[in-house]
Amino acid sequence: MNIGLFRKRLLAWYRRHKRVLPWRSNPTPYRVWVSEIMLQQTQVRTVLPFYERFLARFPSVQSLAAAHVDEVVEAWAGLGYYSRARNIHEAARKVAGAPGGRFPATMDGWLELPGIGKYTAGAILSIAFNQPHPIVDGNVRRVITRLHALRKPPGEKFFWEQASAWIPRDHPSEFNQALMELGAMVCTPSSPDCDSCPVRSICEARRLGIQESIPRARALRKAESVELVLLVIRHRASVLLSNEALASYIPGPRHLPGRILRNGEIPEEAARSLARIYYPSEIPLTYAGHAKHSITYRRIVAHVFSIAVRRRIVPRQSGHCWVDSTEAGRLLTSSLYRKALDSQ
Ligand code: SF4
Repeated sequence: MNIGLFRKRLLAWYRRHKRVLPWRSNPTPYRVWVSEIMLQQTQVRTVLPFYERFLARFPSVQSLAAAHVDEVVEAWAGLGYYSRARNIHEAARKVAGAPGGRFPATMDGWLELPGIGKYTAGAILSIAFNQPHPIVDGNVRRVITRLHALRKPPGEKFFWEQASAWIPRDHPSEFNQALMELGAMVCTPSSPDCDSCPVRSICEARRLGIQESIPRARALRKAESVELVLLVIRHRASVLLSNEALASYIPGPRHLPGRILRNGEIPEEAARSLARIYYPSEIPLTYAGHAKHSITYRRIVAHVFSIAVRRRIVPRQSGHCWVDSTEAGRLLTSSLYRKALDSQ
C-alpha cells in the first residue's frame, strides 16, 4: 500500500468533509480531554448537548477542580458511566494542583491521571498537542481490517503497529481525526459507502468485494438474569437516596438503596437485613411488587420494599441524601429506579 497516497487522500477528504464539532474548533487540552472522556462508550450526538453545558458550567480545569464532586456528577446526569465524572473531577484536582497547574504533555503524564488509558492519552496528545501518537478505536480497527482485507481478526498489537506506521509526523492531529471520521461516516459497520470513500482505490476489501462481511460482528452475549432488592425508604415527603451504584452497569448519580441477591437468597430476608443497616431497630417493611428492566444483556428483576420511617437518622456524610419525592424522579436517571418508584 502506498502510505503517502493514503495519507494525502484521507487528509484532503477530511478537510473538505469533516463534521463541525465543538471540540474541533478550539482544540485546547481541556476541551479535547473533556470531549474524549464524554465520548467513551457514548455516541457523538448524545455527547453534544452535555458537552456545551458542561463547558459553560466548568469553563476551565481550575473551575472543575474547585467544584464539589457532587456538582460534577450532577452535570454529568444523563450521560451514564458516572465513574467518568468522578475520575474527571479527581484528575482536574491533580492537574490544577500540579506546579503551574498545566496539563501533562507526555504519555506517561497523562497515564498517571485517573480515567485515562492508552487510547485516551493518545487521542489527547495527538489532537490537542499535535504529537504523533497512534490511536485505535472501533472505527480505526474496522478501516484497517478492510483496507488490508483481514479475514481473520489479528491481535490488538497489529492494529496499534499499523496505526503507528500510518501516522504522519507533520499532521498527527488531523490524521487521527480523519481516520476515525472515515470509520464513523463512510466505512461504517454495515453498508460502507465505498463510492464516496477517498481511499477506495487502495482498499483490498473493496477490490475483493468482501467489505460487508469483515470484520465479523461479535457474537451476542448470552442473556444473564440478575435479581435484586431495592428499598424505598420514606420520611414524610422525602426519599432516601444513595450515591453508590448497586452495580457498575446501573447508571446514574443517585440510586435507591439496595443490593444484588445471591443465588437462592430470599428477597424479603435480604431486604430486612439491608434495612437494619439503615435503621437498626426492626421497622415495618412492605413488599411493593417487582420491577423488570433490561440493561444490555442483563435481565433484571428488582423486588421493591417500602419503609416509612419517623426520623431521618441517615446522615448525608454516609454517601446518602434525603430528597423530596418530586426531585427523586429527576435524580434517579436509571429507569429501573423510576419503575421501582412507580410500583409503590
Ligand atoms: Fe471502507 Fe469501502 Fe473505503 Fe474500503 S473502500 S475503506 S471498505 S469505505
